[in-house]
Order: sequence, then structure tokens, then C-alpha cells
Amino acid sequence: MQRFPDYLLKGYNNFMSGRFNEQQQRYKALAETGQQPKTMVIACCDSRAAPETIFDSGPGELFVVRNVANMMPPYEPDGQYHSTSAALEFAVQVLKVSDIVVMGHGRCGGIKAALDLDAEPLSPGDFIGRWMNLLKPAAEQIHNNELMTAAERQRALERVSIRNSIANLRTFPCVKILEQRGKLQLHGAWFDISTGELWVMDGKTGDFARPGM
Ligand SMILES: [Zn+2]
Repeated sequence: MQRFPDYLLKGYNNFMSGRFNEQQQRYKALAETGQQPKTMVIACCDSRAAPETIFDSGPGELFVVRNVANMMPPYEPDGQYHSTSAALEFAVQVLKVSDIVVMGHGRCGGIKAALDLDAEPLSPGDFIGRWMNLLKPAAEQIHNNELMTAAERQRALERVSIRNSIANLRTFPCVKILEQRGKLQLHGAWFDISTGELWVMDGKTGDFARPGM
């Protein structure tokens, strides 16, 4: 018989008696006035890299879209299904967020898959393979670099991928215009799961460094 997972019900009960109870007024106000998050985060599906946890965010603070390997595809108004572009459209046009953060992370399975150029599709649809094609030119170059170790190649592509997503964000006319007007800022960040370190991208050079706190 189908059974809803017990640990989820237990977690939900803890949430209700804990955080929801403490922030009841906030939830109520957000329900009445609607959400007004200032920041959109594009993050990976990875269960170890949840933006709300990493940035210690409460309800209404972050507008989050998560997909395999935290990628933003380019602007393609082709009538196909584009879930990440739909989330971007809503964040920029309706919520009018002032910041968009593309957050990558260490040991990303999607990035690892992109570097495995001979991998067989997981299913006939090859959804991950096709999705990771967004990074194919970079993945091929890094894959062929024999001077780097496997771990160095992985980290390099994780960071190239963040820069690639930011470049793709700028192919959306609404993003480009708002950024030029100084109303929208694009950021890159990379989270190290094992140490908890957050590395932030320099907008000019594209290099990643630990931010001064
Ligand atoms: Zn990932």
C-alpha cells in the first residue's frame, strides 16, 4: 500500500511547531501581501546544496529555481517548454528582483556527467545528456586537458558553467536592458559541500574568491 514517507511527516510536524509557529505573523503577512523577494537564485537540484539553507533565508526572501547543474539556457523563444526561462521571466518582469545569483557547487553530478563524454543515455529520452549539451563545447575542451587531474577538471567546469549561465542570462532582452540601466545585478557563486565555503565570482574577471565578511 502506498504510504507517505514518515520522515517527511515528522519533519513537517517539527516545522509547524518550530519555524512556522515562530514566524506565523510573517507567513500571514506574506499570504496577504504576496511575495516580494529581492533575489532570484538559480541552483542545482543536488540535495546537499539548498540555497535557503546555505543563505539562512526565511519565507519570502529567495525566489529559487533549481535544475540539474544550475544552468540557465540561452534565450530561445521557440514555443518549446522552458521551465527555467519561465521562472526567470516571472522573477524579472513581475517580481522585479534586483539580483540574480547563479550558484554552483562542488562534486556536482551533472557536471561530472557533462565531462563523461562517452556516457550512455540513462533512458531513451537522454534528458540529462541533452540538457548538459548546453555545456558541451566547454566540457570537451576541459575533458581534453591532460594537464589537469579529474578533480581539477571537475571544479574548472563547475565554474565555467556558472560563467556560461551568466552569459546566457544576458541573451534575454529584459535582463540585458535592466542590467544596463543598473536595475539588475548578476552574480556567480560556488559552494563547497565538504567545507561549507562559499566562493563568489568577481564580475569583471570571472575569477572566484572567498568574500571578505
Ligand atoms: Zn549539482
